[in-house]
Amino acid sequence: MSDNIEQLKEFHWMMDMLQNIDVGLIVLNQNNEIQLWNSFMENHSGMLGVNAKGQNLFKLFPDIPADWFKHKVQSVFQLKTRAFSIWEQRPYIFKFKNYRPITGTAEFMYQNISVFPLTSTTGEVTNICIIIYDVTDVAMSNKALESANQQLEFLSRTDRLTGLNNRGYWQECQEREFSRYQRHKSNTSLLIFDIDHFKNVNDTYGHQAGDEVIRICSRTLLACAREIDICGRYGGEEFVVLMANTEAEGARIFAERLRKLIERLTVTHEGKEINFTVSLGICQLNESVKSAQQWLERADQALYVSKENGRNQTNIG
Ligand code: GH3
Ligand code: MG
Ligand code: MG
Repeated sequence: MSDNIEQLKEFHWMMDMLQNIDVGLIVLNQNNEIQLWNSFMENHSGMLGVNAKGQNLFKLFPDIPADWFKHKVQSVFQLKTRAFSIWEQRPYIFKFKNYRPITGTAEFMYQNISVFPLTSTTGEVTNICIIIYDVTDVAMSNKALESANQQLEFLSRTDRLTGLNNRGYWQECQEREFSRYQRHKSNTSLLIFDIDHFKNVNDTYGHQAGDEVIRICSRTLLACAREIDICGRYGGEEFVVLMANTEAEGARIFAERLRKLIERLTVTHEGKEINFTVSLGICQLNESVKSAQQWLERADQALYVSKENGRNQTNIG
C-alpha cells in the first residue's frame, strides 16, 4: 500500500515537472489528436490544456505544414526512431511571438523540435512525444554573426573613399577572368585610366577637393559601366575595369564615352569649380599575354602612350 502511495507521489511530481519544464511538450496519438499539452505550450499559444486535449493538432493550428510534419513523424511511428527539425531548416513549427527581452529583435520564437515514440505496454507505438525548444537566443546570435561576417567581407573588398572594389579584390577578379579566358578563349578586355595632372588639383584646391574629384570620377564610371563590368580603384587616382565579352573596339567605345563625360564634368568644391580629364589604356586578352599581371601591364603601357601623346585620350595596347 505504502509502495503505491510512493508511486503515486512520484507520478504526481513527474507530472508537475513535465508541466513546468521550460520546453514545449506535446503528446499526439496516431490520429494527430493532442493527448498532453504542457504549460509552456499553454503560455505561448494561449490555448489551455483542457481545451487542447482531444483536438486535432492541424485543425487547431492550421499554420503548421501538415504534410511536412506527417512525413517527418511517419518514421517515428513505423520504425520507432527519433526525428528532428532544426531552426536552420524551418525557423519554427508553432508561430509563437518572441517575448524574450534580450533577443527582442526576433519577431517570433525560433524552435528546434525533437519527436520520439512512446510505446504502449504491448510494445506498439500508439503515441509520439514532441519537444519544442526555444532557440531564439542561439538563432539571433548566429544571425548577427552571419551578418557581421557579410559586412566584414564587404568591407574587406571595398575601397572606403569610392565604394568601388579595392585593389586586392579587383586583382582576385582579374585572376579569375584570366583563368576563364584560358578555358573559354572568350573576348575580354581590361581598361585602366588615370586622372590627368591630379597633383595640380590637390595643390590648387586642397586634398579634400582631390578626394571629391576621385569620388565623382568613380560615380561617373559606375554610371557608365554595365552590370557585369568589374570596376575597381587600383591606386590613388587610377581606376580599372574588367569587361567580359568585350573586344578592344567595344572597350574603346566605352572608354571614349567615359572620357568625354568626364571632360564635361564640373566638380564644385567650396564654391570653386574644378574640371579635369583622364587618360585611358586598353588591352584585349590574347594568346601572347602570359599572366594576369602582364595583361594589366599591357593596358598600363597603352595608358602611358595616352599620357605621352598629350593626355585626355584612349589608346589600345
Ligand atoms: P599625370 O597626368 O601624369 O597622371 O599626373 P598626376 O599629377 O595625376 O600624377 P602623379 O602621380 O604625379 O600624382 C598623383 C597624385 O595623387 C599624388 C598623390 O598625392 C595624389 N593622391 C593619391 N591618392 C589620393 C587620394 O586618395 N586623395 C587625394 N586627394 N589625392 C591622392
Ligand atoms: Mg594622374
Ligand atoms: Mg597615377
